Amino acid sequence: MSEIKVLSKEVSELIAAGEVIDRPASIIKELLENAIDAGANVITVEIKNGGRTYIRVTDNGKGISKEDLPTAFLRHATSKISVKNDLDSIMTLGFRGEALASICAVSKVDVLTKRPEEDYGTHYVIEGAVEKTCEECGCPDGTTFVVRDIFYNVPARLKFLKKDVSEGNFAADLVTKLTLSHPEISFKFIRDNKVEILTAGDGKIYSAVYSVYGRDFANSMLEVDYTWQGMHITGFTVKPLSAKPNRRFQNFFVNKRYVKSRACAAALEEAYRNLLMTGKFPACVLYIDIPPNTIDVNVHPTKIEVRFSDEKLMHEAVFFAVKNSLMKNDRPNEMHLEN
Ligand code: ADP
Ligand code: MG
Repeated sequence: MSEIKVLSKEVSELIAAGEVIDRPASIIKELLENAIDAGANVITVEIKNGGRTYIRVTDNGKGISKEDLPTAFLRHATSKISVKNDLDSIMTLGFRGEALASICAVSKVDVLTKRPEEDYGTHYVIEGAVEKTCEECGCPDGTTFVVRDIFYNVPARLKFLKKDVSEGNFAADLVTKLTLSHPEISFKFIRDNKVEILTAGDGKIYSAVYSVYGRDFANSMLEVDYTWQGMHITGFTVKPLSAKPNRRFQNFFVNKRYVKSRACAAALEEAYRNLLMTGKFPACVLYIDIPPNTIDVNVHPTKIEVRFSDEKLMHEAVFFAVKNSLMKNDRPNEMHLEN
């Protein structure tokens, strides 16, 4: 009698979903990235009970046709890449075709979507990966996803969620990062019927920072604009006297994707060495533009960790970009370190 069996689709889907979706904030991340990839310039996120019972993401992007909707929820179904070589030149936030499949495996999803060129939209309902409704309806251009009762069918996962307020804070942090990554998009974040974040979407980094971190932070910023070896680093870092009590305010965006990078964080701290009191940490909002073939975003299903083909070069670029701004601040009338 054989001992080894291929898992049923239901079980393997739940395992795969667990890699992408571990809490309400990961659903919000995926839905927001899809909205951004769809070309939206107005995006609203609403959550209730930390996102545990209710998440809504509404965008005014290109919408999904009725014909494509069921396919969009299949694993490895994407409109963003098609052949192997496309993996070397990824400019969209998504490309793995896993998010919608993962989300619908562990929650109850309602979609209302309409493409601007079509007369009717579609209402689609899918629960635990089982399609319930797919019918024509009238609705505005763009897409609304409502995701209810995350992990209703995976009690083990549900148990590991933190209190609603903590889950809501994870969601708010995530929206903050995406807001900063795309200052040209107007974001609204509503938590339990209260608007917490509202950005103008005027394309100015300063106004996005002002909206999410407040006036004091925005006014303590030093501009960064540095070009080196095919990399362009722009954005802001803060005056040493305005350093923060933790690392939460360190933001790195590579090709408009929020990333966690040890190389970038270490370079930032090195640039501030000897300028900060103990217990203080630098803050920044830095946009790093590099050729897409010098970065591998396909390291982890959530794509938040990336690998640079030359980590040392990246470290040096961030270090000099930040150091340069700090020196200009220190000695505004003197010569400064040039590119
Ligand atoms: P990926 O983003 O990696 O392509 P997803 O599972 O997140 O995979 O989405 C599957 C497909 O559904 C996308 O490639 C896109 O074509 C479509 N899609 C998802 N969300 C939206 C949206 N908000 N607006 C338009 N199309 C969308
Ligand atoms: Mg996606």
